[in-house]
Amino acid sequence: MTPPATPLGEKIARQIAATGPLSVAEYMALCMNDPVDGYYARAETIGVKGDFITAPEVSQMFGELIGVWCYSAWQAMASPGRVMLVEAGPGKGTLLADLLRTVKRFPGFADAIDLHLIEASATMIARQREVLTEAGFADRAHWHAALHELPAGKDAAPAILIANEFLDVLPFRQYVKKGKAWYERSIGIDENGALTWKLAPTLIDPSLLPPGAEGEPDGAVFEIAPAREAWVATLAERLSQAGGMALLIDYGHAQAGFGDTFQAMRGHAHADPLEGPGLADLTSHVDFAALARAATAAGAHASAIVEQGEFLLAMGLLERAGALGADADETTRERLRGEVERLAGPDEMGRLFKVLALYGMNPVRSGADFPPFSAPFGGDAK
Ligand code: SAH
Repeated sequence: MTPPATPLGEKIARQIAATGPLSVAEYMALCMNDPVDGYYARAETIGVKGDFITAPEVSQMFGELIGVWCYSAWQAMASPGRVMLVEAGPGKGTLLADLLRTVKRFPGFADAIDLHLIEASATMIARQREVLTEAGFADRAHWHAALHELPAGKDAAPAILIANEFLDVLPFRQYVKKGKAWYERSIGIDENGALTWKLAPTLIDPSLLPPGAEGEPDGAVFEIAPAREAWVATLAERLSQAGGMALLIDYGHAQAGFGDTFQAMRGHAHADPLEGPGLADLTSHVDFAALARAATAAGAHASAIVEQGEFLLAMGLLERAGALGADADETTRERLRGEVERLAGPDEMGRLFKVLALYGMNPVRSGADFPPFSAPFGGDAK
């Protein structure tokens, strides 16, 4: 490969030359979060003009159904008079706009809300502020750079937290099998100064490996994401202390396995993660079983892990599409059918994406073993 062409690539190559190879986690953090040249400082990331499309950008129904979930969650918490509605990594604010439009139909809930947005990117914050101004919620919105900055302590209100495609952007580590051992994958530079894959001498603690590791061939990859587990543990502690519920949605697996899921997306196509640092969205699949374990260890209750398609259908996706299409023309109905297929279809986002709910306390209503609380839209909803 040729030496890195972006300013961030040059910066990273200089750092490696000075202090040695970077772990995948360190490389990812530099690529995504550098305040000047990092990926999330870019103007266009999510959407048609950007690099990838997320569920809220596919259809308004996604944010609406999550709004219904939030309302059910609030009711299950015995309808507190003050609640923090938190979104982690709100991106363009589309999910929030659809959610808030829905929530306005439930005045008791809408009035109880204080909005808290966890967002690292100044570019995104500016977008989100515009959206919330339009929705009439800007005066009740607070931004935080990280989860631990949320108001805490005995006077803090309980929280309802949403995170869609947020955990996948937090750094992860990779280990590669060689002989009987698993070595950490790292990023170094070759004799031309280009970024290249290496193996670090660091070994994984074998107790972290899932069953079947001995049978994996040379070159097999195993991934862990301590940063994601730590994030969820912090959230779970908060939920169990101040009360609340959370809904985590992302692509990933319900059971840990082997395989390289390091993904770079640029202009809606897969790219090489080592090319053009800062120009592509870098992610990996989320290990939901590990998140559920981290949450319960930190004192929260975790729901079963369900597929996004199953979750959305249980929340009333078809009824909502039916209501939106009822008085619409055929083109609109066709578009709605396409959106349902994209969000819930087994070959689209329906199976790959998983949903996990966390509860700070046992919910008042049944539902602890399944994220939805039902309460789908009635047929008259617009
Ligand atoms: N939830 C949105 C956006 C997903 S993209 C959607 O579904 O469309 C990830 C979001 O997380 C972006 O808003 C990005 O700026 C933000 N982000 C990335 N790393 C972050 C970090 N370490 N802390 C807080 N926010 C972060």
